[in-house]
Amino acid sequence: MLNCLFCRIIAGEIPANKVYEDADTFAFEDLHPQAPTHVLVVPKKHIADLAEAAATDANVVGLCQLAAAEIARQRGLSKGYRTVVNVGPDAGQTVFHLHVHLLGGRSLSWPPG
Ligand code: 5GP
Ligand code: ZN
Repeated sequence: MLNCLFCRIIAGEIPANKVYEDADTFAFEDLHPQAPTHVLVVPKKHIADLAEAAATDANVVGLCQLAAAEIARQRGLSKGYRTVVNVGPDAGQTVFHLHVHLLGGRSLSWPPG
């Protein structure tokens, strides 16, 4: 989608540190990491957020989670990690292209803020 930051990163129009890519998903380092590992995994298809995802998006939504798990394995995050999807203003969503945060490499408190 024109003017979507993450669509432009996927297209290579805006630079990012790519971590992983397959036919349906794309992953890159978060610009402002909140943990030693902070990777964003996004569907290549533009979906604004989880609330906008349709039943036909079930496969790609799941694939983003599985890609996060694979990246966590590759990075040896055997002590644990967290995947997070922020949806809407109360959750602090700032980029409206669905993304899974993969956070790891430090102890993560619960509940989140
Ligand atoms: P949200 O708050 O929407 O769940 O997460 C958006 C994330 O995108 C934030 O963690 C923010 O640091 C990250 N971000 C914002 N702009 C850029 C950018 O231009 N490049 C990268 N790599 N990450 C970005
Ligand atoms: Zn997009």
